[in-house]
Amino acid sequence: MRMRSRACFLFAAFFVAIFWTAGSRAAIRETSVRELVEASDLIVAAQAVAQESAWNDEIQRVETITTLSIDALVPGHAPGETVRVTTLGGYLSDRDLHMFVSSEARFALGQRYAVLLDSPDDRGIRTVTGLALGATAIRSDQSPLPGERAFDFVARINPHLPAERTGRERAAYDFQTVATHELGHFLGLGDIYDEGSSHRDCMGKNNGAKMMFGQTAAGEIKRGLHNADMLGIRFIYGNQTVPVDNGANNENLFTYICVGRMLTDCCSNEPLDVKYRWKSLPVSYYSHQADFTEDHVSRIQFAMNTWVDESASAYTATYRGDTIVDSFAFDDGINIVHVAHPSEVSNWALAQTTIGADSNGYIKGADVGFNGTTYEWSPALPAGANGIPTPNPDVPKEEGPRGGCFAGTRSTAAGPGADLLVLGLLGAIAAVSRRSRKAATRQ
Ligand SMILES: [Zn+2]
Repeated sequence: MRMRSRACFLFAAFFVAIFWTAGSRAAIRETSVRELVEASDLIVAAQAVAQESAWNDEIQRVETITTLSIDALVPGHAPGETVRVTTLGGYLSDRDLHMFVSSEARFALGQRYAVLLDSPDDRGIRTVTGLALGATAIRSDQSPLPGERAFDFVARINPHLPAERTGRERAAYDFQTVATHELGHFLGLGDIYDEGSSHRDCMGKNNGAKMMFGQTAAGEIKRGLHNADMLGIRFIYGNQTVPVDNGANNENLFTYICVGRMLTDCCSNEPLDVKYRWKSLPVSYYSHQADFTEDHVSRIQFAMNTWVDESASAYTATYRGDTIVDSFAFDDGINIVHVAHPSEVSNWALAQTTIGADSNGYIKGADVGFNGTTYEWSPALPAGANGIPTPNPDVPKEEGPRGGCFAGTRSTAAGPGADLLVLGLLGAIAAVSRRSRKAATRQ
């Protein structure tokens, strides 16, 4: 059942990507308020009032279920109602295991958020639409105005998320740019965003120029580090201390992954929390070579080496070659770069990094998964590099249920784009069928 709701969501997001003709943004693709709202089932202004973490149903990843108490809803239910939301990552005390997943929304108890939500699964639990971009922390002086539409409220409190996407061109994502960003997570750095998203307390200036900026556009090439990225690596593995200067024009803020508080994203403008880091160096890492060409493998190594700055930090990593070990085991010490199975990476994400650490911040394992299902890459990934078993052409494609599911997710967010969405859906079904046939032919 959970798989089905995930499949529905995957399909919905896939279609959205096609319909907007894919001009898309480092680990989350470029998006807009309109796109997020259109893909949502429910939009609320709500406060995080309870939270617990546990293994997911497949005992492969840790999920945190946050209870949100609605204080305003645009449009719909009554204030005071609660909704439960699942995000990946969390802490299991019996295992002393923290799991961090890049790009996920994160909720701090007591904080208010504007949250865009997907339709509930069979447990009645929802996911955030658009990962970190779908949950914007609300400042104490902000509330929906009487009669304000969801779209206007989200756009007003999140001015950096464009109302409309301007990029309409079809372009591939630069593999090395995204690899370099993800390998920044691999060593312990967090995402930094402009104002907006659930991670809004680490601002500063010119975040978009940083490698650890959380979004990238199709065709964007950003392979070198910004000074803030270098300060980050030196903070984790060298002599750099925090807080760094936090003046109004400060361009040097970075985010590091930390333990010891509800959120796992700490800003360098605050005193030190326990930071994630590798205990012994060099770190070994592998790739699923069947997912990549030789060119990709050398770009992964180049991306990893981009973070090695021996004059100022101790961080080093050694490539160990191919492995067939399953990347779901994120805490097994076998660190893998691969093309993720669709159930392992959000459809909104170009790539996600999953890290396991203990409460001293020592990393037990980390895996980087690229999304080879939804996005085109440059250089192109090899055929079949998406973790999906080759489809059997004799099995019906379940187009009916998918269509119905998508209609369901649109029920409360119906807006001006509804007719166009239906057209897009048909186009997406055709594209999926073509893709399946192509994949079958390649075998
Ligand atoms: Zn990221």
